[in-house]
Amino acid sequence: MPALILDGKKIAEEIKREIKAETDKLKSQYGIIPGLAFILVGNNPASESYVKMKNKACNEIGFFSITEKLPDKTEQDFLTDLINKYNRDPLIHGILVQLPLPEHLNSDKIIEVIDPRKDVDGFHPINVGKLVIGLDCFKPCTPAGIQELLKRYGIKTTGKHIVILGRSNIVGKPAANIFLQKENFANAIVTIVHSAADDIIKYTRQADILICATGKAEFVNSDMIKKDAIVIDVGINRIPDSKSKSGYKIVGDVDFASVSKIASAITPVPGGIGPMTIAMLLSNTLKAAKNFTNAYIKI
Ligand code: NDP
Repeated sequence: MPALILDGKKIAEEIKREIKAETDKLKSQYGIIPGLAFILVGNNPASESYVKMKNKACNEIGFFSITEKLPDKTEQDFLTDLINKYNRDPLIHGILVQLPLPEHLNSDKIIEVIDPRKDVDGFHPINVGKLVIGLDCFKPCTPAGIQELLKRYGIKTTGKHIVILGRSNIVGKPAANIFLQKENFANAIVTIVHSAADDIIKYTRQADILICATGKAEFVNSDMIKKDAIVIDVGINRIPDSKSKSGYKIVGDVDFASVSKIASAITPVPGGIGPMTIAMLLSNTLKAAKNFTNAYIKI
């Protein structure tokens, strides 16, 4: 039987409708409009397109958003001051510094400048620490999106072996910490695999749920997975395509054609984890706005 397609696009639309309803309520009852500041440094086309998509989603559901587009040569101090300005701005509840930053900037230090209460990407060490020990926090959007997608499809993870390909701070490590927590739609046995593994297949074939986040186009093929595994493809890779107007197409880290014949469920690229990531950013921003409102007006 062909794999069930886990339709992230459809689920993300459903979540956006829910967030819009809550946003309308926040607006009419308390006059609060969730506000998100995007900071984009340099001219990375992928980053530009991600910020554009996130901004569009904000507009669709009635958030206030502002985009600061800064030149590639922006200095650390300038960026720090700008973040601090938004840390103090009561109309802004979330701050997103689009990564990667140009090499001369110290990303770790920049992330630490963001007020953890406005860190809707969940990358500040305070939120990372809270995630690890299971406290309420902003969960990084991509792994939170994976968990939410599994939840909405009713795919239980308790006791399942989740193998994660990739150990980045954005996807792999937070995904491991999310799925390790002793709670519903987590509570899994987690293995992280990275480039030092000598025999990746040995690990991937054990996975009940395989999360692929290597950044290597169509890297995972059908030989690497167990029959009926659930395959989550996080990858967004541009590969040349002479048939497309742009000259490229987007593919995931998974060879969809072969893997979808073996897996029981699979996320497509595009239309899988990408839209879920944006939905979780909106959800985190709404949460930040509610926290802010709660601090001043009881909701
Ligand atoms: P990184 O490049 O930061 O990390 C890639 C990870 O994969 C590293 O841990 C690396 O290992 C590991 N890896 C690379 N090659 C191999 C290999 N041959 N065998 C085993 N492990 C390997 O990438 P990100 O985590 O930031 O992103 C991963 C992918 O997800 C990218 O395609 C990115 O575009 C996409 N992405 C998609 C998002 C979405 O919204 N859908 C959001 C964020 C990312 P090592 O640490 O040893 O180098």
